[in-house]
Amino acid sequence: MGGSLEGSFPDEARVYRALGLAWVPPELREADGELEAAAAGRLPHLVEQTDLRGFLHCHSHFSDGTVTIAEWASSCRAAGYGWVGITDHSQSSAYSGGLRAEDVGQQHAEIDAVNAGATGILVLKGVEADILADGSLDYGPDVLDRFDFVIGSIHSRFGMSEEEMTRRVLTAMEDPRLTILGHPTGRLLLQREPYAIDLERVLQTAADRGIAVEVNADPHRLDLDWRMVRRARDLGVTISIGANAHSTGGITNVAIGLGIARKGWLEPSGVLNTRDADGFLAFARQRRTVAA
Ligand SMILES: [Zn+2]
Ligand SMILES: [Zn+2]
Repeated sequence: MGGSLEGSFPDEARVYRALGLAWVPPELREADGELEAAAAGRLPHLVEQTDLRGFLHCHSHFSDGTVTIAEWASSCRAAGYGWVGITDHSQSSAYSGGLRAEDVGQQHAEIDAVNAGATGILVLKGVEADILADGSLDYGPDVLDRFDFVIGSIHSRFGMSEEEMTRRVLTAMEDPRLTILGHPTGRLLLQREPYAIDLERVLQTAADRGIAVEVNADPHRLDLDWRMVRRARDLGVTISIGANAHSTGGITNVAIGLGIARKGWLEPSGVLNTRDADGFLAFARQRRTVAA
């Protein structure tokens, strides 16, 4: 009997088919609408590694990373990416060796030099700017305008009330230079709880304003949490998978972030990293031109 059952159902797909269902990817098996979607033929076409063209959120030796710009370029090209967005810490993150405003020119000259010599990879000038306590972005507009794109993150004053913290982040989202909201709850798994924040309002605002929200793929963070990734997706928020890599070993973080994105039902179109460099830069520029 067991033998004949195995003969009829050699794999999962056959089992699902016998039940009139499309095969459900394991990431979606949470008894939260996936069987209904499978029955209706409406399962998402989940994003895959081969869809990802750009590598985002990495730190070089200009802040607390161990890697040169040239090493980031060659390692990301070897990993199959067409572009890499370098995002060192900004000046207020002094403890993380934040890039001083007067050193931005030197970093950009190094990026230009690498781009002039490299083939098959484009290095983009990004920054992980602190969202200061009053909600302004570190450096101010003149310096931020020199970057191709800006990740805004909270690295200080985690103890604010929910109302204060939400206002702080919403204020940062008013700045047209903000491209991506980094690690949106600040949690460190088993170490630090998420800060108090009205995520629903933040995600709705991100959708309205065309700001991407990060899935930070550092295994200590996994921030956004996958449940909120799915909520963000339903609201139409674009998700950015950020490696938060400080060494080239951190390139493999992306696989973890990708798993979280898939568990949040994300298709390629909902993930910023699937765009080519021009498409990514257009996403970043769009907010600045709308505001100008
Ligand atoms: Zn950060
Ligand atoms: Zn970072």
